[in-house]
Amino acid sequence: NIDKSILLYLEGISVSFDGFKAINDLNLYLKHDELRCIIGPNGAGKTTMMDIITGKTRPDCGTAFFGQTIDLLALDETAIAEAGIGRKFQKPTVFESLTVQDCLELAMRQPRDFWSLYQAKSQPHERRKILDVAETIGLQDHLPRLSGDLSHGQKQWLEIGMLLMQQPRLLLVDEPAAGMTHQEIDKTAELLRSLAGTHCVVVVEHDMDFVRTLSDGGGTVSVLHQGSVLAEGSMDQIQNNTDVRRVYLGE
Ligand code: ADP
Repeated sequence: NIDKSILLYLEGISVSFDGFKAINDLNLYLKHDELRCIIGPNGAGKTTMMDIITGKTRPDCGTAFFGQTIDLLALDETAIAEAGIGRKFQKPTVFESLTVQDCLELAMRQPRDFWSLYQAKSQPHERRKILDVAETIGLQDHLPRLSGDLSHGQKQWLEIGMLLMQQPRLLLVDEPAAGMTHQEIDKTAELLRSLAGTHCVVVVEHDMDFVRTLSDGGGTVSVLHQGSVLAEGSMDQIQNNTDVRRVYLGE
């Protein structure tokens, strides 16, 4: 009986590697259209948590539901992606030798009909969707360009666009601002905040200025420490939290 406002429900999740508890009785509840920043010191378990959500790592115990009824622990990585969970790793992995248009089109196809990109002309509604996504990520004027020629920031947005082509409900984004110019960082914050109006967006981030920008738009910050959630709240609440100050500042 999971609350209908909850899209992702993780409860009592633990996983050990060679006896070391990387995730330790983790609880996390994400709403359908929220922007959630995940912060925490190195080794806190952020990557492992993302790996569990996407099916890359199996927990030893716990419960993980997506959209109330989908038991994530019963699905493999491909089925989890098809259920509507998209993940973007830190380094952009666009198809450098294809145009922006083709990258978006390819991303729309399911892996099983990969070759349909070359066999069939795209349908009008598909072209509409490509244009919509290109506008969302600010690359509508770059569709014929080779994606390998884009700036680092543009590649990151294209990869987010490629995820959007698969119509995910949950987007997991790892350090999107790393290596970007100030201007690109601001545009990225704007993009992620606008996506959170229609998706659940989870951002793992080290850059505290960027986290503040994201959370000032209404996002919640969760602090991971030793494999569980130490604190949750607005950036102000997090910065004034005594447990967080002890972990981060040694107070
Ligand atoms: P973070 O992303 O917050 O830096 P990680 O999830 O990468 O943290 O790692 C959490 C802890 O689990 C670390 O101590 C790391 O060394 C350990 N760990 C992660 N993956 C493995 C693995 N496959 N084998 C052994 N230890 C691992």
